[in-house]
Amino acid sequence: MNEADSEGIAAAFRRRGYTLTDDIKKADAVVVNTCTVRQKAEDKAISQIGRLRVWKEKRPEGKVFVVGCAAQKLGGKNIKHRFPFVDEVVGAKSIEKFEDSLIAQLGPSPEGETEHQNIYRSPQTAYTTVMRGCSLKCSYCIVPAVRGPAVCLSPEAVLEDAAAKLKAGAKEIVLLGQTVNSYKYGKTTFSELLKKTLALPGLARLRFMSPHPVYFDDAFTALLASEPKLARHMHLPVQSGSDRILRLMRRGYTRGAYLGLLERLRGAAPDLAVSTDFIVGYPGETEQDFADTLALVEEGRFSLAYCFKYSPRTDRPEMSATISEAEMEARLEKLLAAVKKNSRLVLNERIGKIEEVLFETETYGRASGNFAVRVKAGGTPGKVEKVLTAGAEKNTLNGKIL
Ligand code: SF4
Repeated sequence: MNEADSEGIAAAFRRRGYTLTDDIKKADAVVVNTCTVRQKAEDKAISQIGRLRVWKEKRPEGKVFVVGCAAQKLGGKNIKHRFPFVDEVVGAKSIEKFEDSLIAQLGPSPEGETEHQNIYRSPQTAYTTVMRGCSLKCSYCIVPAVRGPAVCLSPEAVLEDAAAKLKAGAKEIVLLGQTVNSYKYGKTTFSELLKKTLALPGLARLRFMSPHPVYFDDAFTALLASEPKLARHMHLPVQSGSDRILRLMRRGYTRGAYLGLLERLRGAAPDLAVSTDFIVGYPGETEQDFADTLALVEEGRFSLAYCFKYSPRTDRPEMSATISEAEMEARLEKLLAAVKKNSRLVLNERIGKIEEVLFETETYGRASGNFAVRVKAGGTPGKVEKVLTAGAEKNTLNGKIL
């Protein structure tokens, strides 16, 4: 979501003739798009802002913008008090109004590029935001507080954005939302939005991120079964394998319900790859709770899992970690080792199979299941080819175009 916001911000600059640079010495403006999902992310953002003091001293006419979730949490006054050289602070709740801050600092008159430019993914892939914020209340999460309740964009706005990005050369669209599959606008449901997006000319593949396990329905599974352009990969955060912890987290499902969902999804698309997120060391997590999480790695057959140490996002004492940092670290390491071993098994199962690969270069692309795939030659960037896989090295499959 932050990457999509950053692309929107970059687009606002490009409309007034600015271009992106990796060299801060050449920059006329710097935007720090902050994250606060974990304390570490917020600390990194703060130290990044602090380092801009020297840049601003050397370039007093340069502009510094601080935006995003940590900006929302810390507040504009606070940030400007601590870092007086910051020109504008735009919190996550008003990030779509970034252009107003730009006008305040640089005046009107957009005149530059209007075509979409992809910054983070390959040129073939573009993000389209379908909803902002989140109306759930997972106990560990700060997102609803900094991004506000869920607000869905109209299907017209979503389709217009996706169509513009396809016209600019994207082949794959990633629909984004904090709980993307809870999308509902008037009578348009998530599955209907997917259908409409799938019908856009030029689209080779459609992904979405991140769905929440409680919002899948039969209409979605039917669509998954019948629509090959819908990617055979889903990032479906589970967070814990323990029912007790899931209840404390207020996730709204049990381990059994999650596994049942995986079964239904894989029933509709047998080659579906599923990745997930885990949090270790949630307050009160016992050895048994952690063992349940470890066991779920194998049971869920995840292709990948992002694992994080619990990071309290509130001062409430009951939300403080209850295990030592050393224990938390030890559990994280065990979990990472299990994930690595399991991911390798899942990857190996793909060897000898045919993958639909969207090529980014002549030799590299991404399978529908989101696996990286390499061939010796012959790929056409932006084209989907069938590749027969023959082996795997590190996290990448290799094979030959059929
Ligand atoms: S669904 Fe995701 S964004 Fe919403 S509260 Fe839960 S973890 Fe946070």
